[in-house]
Amino acid sequence: MLKGKTAVVTGSTGGIGLSIATAFAAQQCNVRLNGFGDKAEIENIRKNLAEDHGVKIGYSAADMSKPADVRDLIADAQRELGPVDILVNNAGIQHVAPLEDFPDDKWDAIIAINLSAAFHATKAVLRGMKERKWGRIINTASSHGLVASPEKVGYVTAKHGLVGFTKVVALETANSGITCNAICPGWVLTPLVQKQIADRAKAESIPVEKAQADLLREKQPMLKFTAPEQIADLAVFLCSDSAATITGASLPIDGGWTAQ
Ligand code: NAD
Repeated sequence: MLKGKTAVVTGSTGGIGLSIATAFAAQQCNVRLNGFGDKAEIENIRKNLAEDHGVKIGYSAADMSKPADVRDLIADAQRELGPVDILVNNAGIQHVAPLEDFPDDKWDAIIAINLSAAFHATKAVLRGMKERKWGRIINTASSHGLVASPEKVGYVTAKHGLVGFTKVVALETANSGITCNAICPGWVLTPLVQKQIADRAKAESIPVEKAQADLLREKQPMLKFTAPEQIADLAVFLCSDSAATITGASLPIDGGWTAQ
C-alpha cells in the first residue's frame, strides 16, 4: 500500500518516533530518520532498518529547535529519497516545573521543538504534496493536547497548539488528497516518561516501581502503558486508503485518560 513512498519522521532515533519509522520501513517506505544520540548507535539503527526491510533509510541530525535545520531535513530527504509523501512531526521534549519557576529557555525550546518545527516542516512539504495530490501529515500530539496537567505549561501549550495546527492544515488541504491528523497518546514508556518517573521517585523518596504505578493511576483509568508499536500501527493506518477521509482529527490512544 505504501511501497516506494518517502516518509520523514522527526525525533526518530528512539522512543515512539523510532517505532513509527520502523513501521513505515516495514511497509516498504523509504524513511529519513532524525534525532539525537550516539552516532554509532544511530548508524546501526539506520543500517539494520535498511537491511531488514530492503528500503532506503537516511539520517539527519537536524535540530528541530532551529527552523533552518528543519528546512534542511526536508531538503536532504527530498534530495536523497525523493519527494516527501509522509511527514510525521514527532520530535518532542518535556520539562516539569511550576509556572513561576519555569525556565524561559525551556519554554522557548518546547515551543520551538514541539510546535514550531511542525509548522516549518509542513510548510516545506505541502506545496509538493498538493502538486502530487497525495500526502499524509501526522503530528504526535498528546493527551496534553486535549487536557491539561499542572507544572507542564510549555508542553500543554505546545500540544494544544499542535492540535489547532492540525485542524488548519486539514482545512487547507481538504480537497488535495492530503490528510493531516494528530495522534494523542497517553502514557508510553519511553525515555521521556522514564525521566518523569525517576524524578518523581527521587522527589517523593519512593521506589521507581511505585512512582511508575502512581503516575499511571493518576491519569489513566486503564492501568497500562501504550506500546510505541501501537502508536506506530495507528500512524500506518492513517496513511491507508481506509483512513482517506479522516482529517483534522486528534485521536486519543490513551487508556481512557481523556474520557474522564
Ligand atoms: P523520547 O524522548 O523517547 O524521543 C524523542 C525523540 O526526539 C528522540 O529521537 C530525540 O533524539 C528527538 N529529539 C529531541 N529533541 C530534538 C531536537 N531538538 N531535534 C531533533 N530531534 C530531537 O520521547 P517519546 O516519548 O518517544 O516522544 C515522542 C513524541 O511523543 C513527543 O512529541 C512526545 O511529546 C510525544 N508523546 C509522548 C508520550 C509518552 O508517554 N512517552 C505521550 C504523549 C506524547
